[in-house]
Amino acid sequence: MPDATANIRRVPYVNFPAQYAEERNEIMALVDDVFSKGAFVGGDYIAQLEAAIAEVVGVKHVIALNSGTDALILAMKGFGIGSGDEVITPPNSFVASTAAITAVGAIPVFVDVKPDQNIDPALIKAAISGRTKAIMPVHLTGRVAEMDRIMEIAEQYDLKVIEDAAQSFGSRYQDVMSGAIGHAGCFSAHPLKNLNAAGDAGFITTDDDSLAEHARLLRNHGLKDRETVVTWGTVSRMDNLQAAFLTMRLKHTDDVVEKRRANAQLYRDLLQDSAVFMPPCVQAEFNTFHTFVVQIERRDALRAYLAECGIETAVHYPVPIHLQPAAVGLGHKSGDFPATEYQASRIVSLPIHQLLSDDDIRYVVANIEAFYS
Ligand SMILES: *Cc1c(COP(=O)(O)O)cnc(C)c1O
Repeated sequence: MPDATANIRRVPYVNFPAQYAEERNEIMALVDDVFSKGAFVGGDYIAQLEAAIAEVVGVKHVIALNSGTDALILAMKGFGIGSGDEVITPPNSFVASTAAITAVGAIPVFVDVKPDQNIDPALIKAAISGRTKAIMPVHLTGRVAEMDRIMEIAEQYDLKVIEDAAQSFGSRYQDVMSGAIGHAGCFSAHPLKNLNAAGDAGFITTDDDSLAEHARLLRNHGLKDRETVVTWGTVSRMDNLQAAFLTMRLKHTDDVVEKRRANAQLYRDLLQDSAVFMPPCVQAEFNTFHTFVVQIERRDALRAYLAECGIETAVHYPVPIHLQPAAVGLGHKSGDFPATEYQASRIVSLPIHQLLSDDDIRYVVANIEAFYS
């Protein structure tokens, strides 16, 4: 139990009201603009956002969509990946990565991860079969996977690389932006992501003209123009209102990233001699810290202790995808992916968002130390 006489400080995991307080006037002006024009579906902000993101990420095409999940689905469909094809991906992601593979009729083939929670390139070749069409690395926590080795394998076996970059907007690997390294990058702008909308939103980044054209058709019923349906599509468009918010927030992402990186550095400095395992940062990475995940013993007891101290934490993700009830048809069992399973019981995401103060972080660390002492 925490010392009842100590001052309790509330450290929320996310703080949307504080973000809103800073942006209220900008948001109201955008709402007014979109409603006055009545431009809800389609509209100027979509093209504006796509161009701005293309510039930031360094790709030819950005296709604005309604979610990160649909970005993954449309990228795979756009590459012609479907029934019976295999896609290699890690089992420790948010469920959407694997679910998207099954949504196009393909088969997820899991590859275990390294201590830094990203897919282990050394294990990929053994998972490749005659039916493998793509590798879908997930840049978990905002740390980009080892893309040089992944691209080399993909080239050797003629596979597409679809980056699940949902957690890594603005992250870099060897100075290339996530989403510009593979054949396609799939991003989410869900409210919990670093570049966040006021609801669901996402986008694909790519240099591939044919993928871009295909994804644009798929997001809008396969309509080439008002009358002509050239392929069976769906509705995966981003709302103009969300595009307006994202265009505004895109201008603040450098500040958001800078603050998150500073918060992460403070945690690292303060926790360096503790019992907490933090994957080292390597030279090639520029991490944007969507989450700050540490690995520790007695994780659940620590979380309960921190909760009593007013500190919110999260676990991304407590049950690996191969052990989910939905995955039973894939025939996996406990022990198949030891690194993923080992981490699942030890990972905890500490508050890292850009509106935290240094004192908030010192308070979190002090209470982690109090728990283990
Ligand atoms: C958030 C997330 C997604 C899904 O994005 P949505 O916009 O919520 O559909 C996919 N993959 C990963 C790794 C994510 O974190």
